[in-house]
Amino acid sequence: MTLKAQARDTIVTIESGSYAGTVVPVAMGSASRKGSRFWRITMRRDGGIVGWNPSRFPIGVALRPDRGISADDSVAFWKILEQMQTDLGARVFAPVTIGKDDDPDDVIIVDTRQMASSEGMTLVTWTSNGLLYDVRVFLRSFEKLRDASVVTHEMMHALGFGHSGDHGSIMNASPSTNRLSPQDVALVQLALSSRAESENIDLWERLALVIERETLPIKH
Ligand SMILES: [Zn+2]
Repeated sequence: MTLKAQARDTIVTIESGSYAGTVVPVAMGSASRKGSRFWRITMRRDGGIVGWNPSRFPIGVALRPDRGISADDSVAFWKILEQMQTDLGARVFAPVTIGKDDDPDDVIIVDTRQMASSEGMTLVTWTSNGLLYDVRVFLRSFEKLRDASVVTHEMMHALGFGHSGDHGSIMNASPSTNRLSPQDVALVQLALSSRAESENIDLWERLALVIERETLPIKH
């Protein structure tokens, strides 16, 4: 599936998770429009959606060690991620541990940082192909590790998603909910199938390259 900013609206039946079978109308344009960019669209010609490639799931998530995060806070944090995964019907996160000074770019690292005005902040980097790497989540305090609204919102940023103007969405800039809505899940589902498709295109392009290379005259 190719997604264009002007793509027609569609109806999505949620395939898995808490809302499986729910039919959700999706305004394709509003999901990618400036100012309400649940999907971050790459500059690539076919307008791929930024994210992790589905074949990489589950993505490792590590709490930065040596920050004094307690075992209870860690358990509470993982409970929130469990709820996200139950709602999505997919295992997208896996707990991993990292060393004090480790900085792996294929692990989502969760840390605390003093912030003046926000509860949390997520820094994401992606390739021209829309592939995420070097994702860092910062929460204002340890208590925020227990805040389902803040954690779910920031972890959705960590999966590559932006904000939504929809009031029922966890990706609203000031969410009034603490879990994913059916609309959120439908948009994630569409984004993942789009990435799965661009992952296939990547694979085919690589194979095509190999074939070209092999047809080069062989020097004896
Ligand atoms: Zn946000």
